[in-house]
Amino acid sequence: MRIVAIRERAVPISRHADPALPSGGLTTSIVAVVTDVQRDGQPVVGYGFSSIGRYAQSGLIRERFALRLLAAPPSALITPDGATLDPFRAWDVMMAGEKPGGHGERCVAVGTLDMALWDAAAKILERPLADVLVRWGGAGAPPAPTVPVYAGGGYYYPRHDRAHLTAEIQAMQALGYQQVKIKIGGAPLAQDIARIEAVLALLPASDVAVDAMNAYDAAQSEEAVQALAPYGLRWWEDVCDPLDFETLAAIAASYPPPRAAGEALFSLAEARLLARHGGLRPAQDLLLFDPVHCYGLPGYLRIVTYLCAQGWPRSAFWPHGGHLFGLHVVSALGLGGAEVNPLCFQPFGGLADGVAPSTGHVAPPRAPGIGFELKADLHRLVRTLLGP
Ligand code: MG
Repeated sequence: MRIVAIRERAVPISRHADPALPSGGLTTSIVAVVTDVQRDGQPVVGYGFSSIGRYAQSGLIRERFALRLLAAPPSALITPDGATLDPFRAWDVMMAGEKPGGHGERCVAVGTLDMALWDAAAKILERPLADVLVRWGGAGAPPAPTVPVYAGGGYYYPRHDRAHLTAEIQAMQALGYQQVKIKIGGAPLAQDIARIEAVLALLPASDVAVDAMNAYDAAQSEEAVQALAPYGLRWWEDVCDPLDFETLAAIAASYPPPRAAGEALFSLAEARLLARHGGLRPAQDLLLFDPVHCYGLPGYLRIVTYLCAQGWPRSAFWPHGGHLFGLHVVSALGLGGAEVNPLCFQPFGGLADGVAPSTGHVAPPRAPGIGFELKADLHRLVRTLLGP
């Protein structure tokens, strides 16, 4: 059993359902890990991508991490019983010689390949990823058949922002989502309050989260606390710079509703700092670490294990990402719930074709692997990595 090829390509992604709207030039890497294992007369191929909201990792993947996987002896990449690829051993191969620290982008390149390795490992075993993952990192229970979800989106529109935002939230509701998250922090506070009010005309505050995209400094955070606290929103995410633990901790006393942090932290070392200095409250706050951006599942599991030992419940983890991989991770690890991007970041965001939330919950795909094959537009795209 061996990896015979690894393919990568950068593709554009969009924050809007209409990709013609400006979206910050975001990209992501799509990867295919091709194995020599045959299922139904075809080689098993694991697919992955760099989650969303950052940029493609072509250079690091092509020049460093894929080369290490391809150069490793096949025996270094498989489980002791030889049943399938072992993403944890593959992770050790990818990270050989890497120095501690410097978690900015390398972690995303490794996480991208890690997603594809998990997809391949589960396909070789002919099981959905959640079933396979419980063996490696679960909470000792079978995978949850369904997981709580919310719809992420609500980015700023260049024109007629509030009208478009209202229409987007209504579209999410029509798709069956009961809870949503929108962006703030990119406009004057009064304008952001008007955005929130527009959404609160459609949903109760307990079903509306806001994401300030790490925009506020200390003074702006204090001002936002006064404006936001009375609403009692579901959570307030990414308040300030991800490493500005002082500002994050300072608002703890004056902002009683839940806060959420961790999306732009990528390592166990950074998670330790957040837990020690961020002033977060395990009983009510949320942790948004993105498994793909945190060096993949081996890195993410270290963070989950550490924070749970510090008193955080697994239910506090709501991984960022908004895609099918996140559903498997939440189901297998017994986490709180998953983001879904039903409208933005297509074809990467959202659920398998024909699947809709039911009373705020979704079942992960039951196909072997992650289930890319059940989302036709996404499968069509990643398949192009294999050529005609
Ligand atoms: Mg965020």
